[in-house]
Amino acid sequence: MNGKKILVWFRNDLRLHDNEIVLEALAKSEEILPVYVFDPRHYETVNGFQKTGQIRARFIIESVAALKASLEAIGGNLLVRSGYPEELIPGLVREYEINEVYHHREVAAEETRISARVEDALWKLKINLKHFIGHTLYNKEDLPFPIKDIPDAFNQFKKKTERDAVIKPCFEAPERVSVVQASDWGTIPELQTLGYQDFVRDERDAFNMTGGEAAGLTYLRKFIDSSAAVQGKNKVLPSRMSAWLALGCVSPRKIYWSIKQAEQRFGARNHFNQVIIGLLWRDYFRFMFKKHGNTYFKKGGFKNEAPPEARNQSSLFKKWKQAQTGHGVIDAIMNELNFTGFISHSARQLVAVYLVYELKVDWTLGASYFEEKLIDYCPASNWGNWAGMSGVGSDQKNKGSFDLEKEVKNIDPEGLYASTWS
Ligand SMILES: Cc1cc2nc3c(=O)[nH]c(=O)nc-3n(C[C@H](O)[C@H](O)[C@H](O)COP(=O)(O)OP(=O)(O)OC[C@H]3O[C@@H](n4cnc5c(N)ncnc54)[C@H](O)[C@@H]3O)c2cc1C
Repeated sequence: MNGKKILVWFRNDLRLHDNEIVLEALAKSEEILPVYVFDPRHYETVNGFQKTGQIRARFIIESVAALKASLEAIGGNLLVRSGYPEELIPGLVREYEINEVYHHREVAAEETRISARVEDALWKLKINLKHFIGHTLYNKEDLPFPIKDIPDAFNQFKKKTERDAVIKPCFEAPERVSVVQASDWGTIPELQTLGYQDFVRDERDAFNMTGGEAAGLTYLRKFIDSSAAVQGKNKVLPSRMSAWLALGCVSPRKIYWSIKQAEQRFGARNHFNQVIIGLLWRDYFRFMFKKHGNTYFKKGGFKNEAPPEARNQSSLFKKWKQAQTGHGVIDAIMNELNFTGFISHSARQLVAVYLVYELKVDWTLGASYFEEKLIDYCPASNWGNWAGMSGVGSDQKNKGSFDLEKEVKNIDPEGLYASTWS
């Protein structure tokens, strides 16, 4: 035995299956110290928007609790702290005589800034922070182009990637872990400790999403079993896996390979293909963020010119947020978002288009509001889609036309949706 101890810093990778950092840390050390940090910056209010709304905060707490339970079930544990990772992690390194720290690299500015601070603090202790890349369907090194040459047009990215790149198999989940003996494993904060009120689930929320790896994998199995029976070219059957994907409770490769297995059993299905295309969009935005960084957060985006804006923006924006625009379906969608944290892709497009082109409100306000409210928020997917819908995204070819009233009819042909969420 080498006596080495590795700290595994969990962030948006709250799972044991298909998790390279856990396996590699176990292989390279005698003991690991699994750690999750509740960073107060994720729960503060900035420019009038909560960084994390109550529904996502609950999902995060559930997901961390599930990871802790999974680690305990195989002989381990999860050390939980609240505070700044750049202060806490070096402290833990000293306290437990850790030799190296592993984590998954993120792509958006705030997340990479925190990694850089941790890296600097560890550097002073002569400890290495090892970066892994494990959030995407395709590994960066398996793409047919370096990041700087990735096509900005989604269709080209898709065509070349599907043709020339491979999707790796999933890593197996460990069966046992050997962890450092910690004196205090800490406690997972409750919603109230993080500054939220008690959560009351809306009875109209038919999906009842619970955070954590086991819940996500169960949901995936149910999606595959129920959707195997559904056939038809025009059938749209979204997976609703995005919240588990955003926190890394389920890996994109796990979804991909589960679908491939299902196709062998049941034959191809149009909606299976749609889910895989969704995963490709997710990869595309993450790689675009790596390539272009902060441009996605700018009002003028890649065009350097924002869409026209109305004078009375703040009152229009308030009505949109509070589901008081007077448009039945738009208000219904906003109510569903406010009460459940989840709306479908076409619903997101509809309220985004309505905000930007009908109300003429600054799209970055809409993106910030989604950031607060969505249960599945992730920076690249949210800001990338918002920039695209507002005509300032990286893929200028993909703007397309959007017929608001036609989409309203598609979403709510019989007015049931509007009456449920009125
Ligand atoms: C304005 C706007 C904001 C959005 N914000 C987010 C966000 O913060 N987080 C998020 O995960 N998705 C976001 N999306 C993308 C998409 O709407 C959701 O991923 C999707 O609705 C989730 O439902 P699903 O899991 O059933 O998707 P499925 O159709 O089953 O797709 C499978 C997975 O692929 C990914 N995916 C699908 N479509 C997209 C897409 N267009 N862009 C990026 N990833 C995609 C998701 O992870 C999804 O779970 C946004 C879209 C718009 C138009």
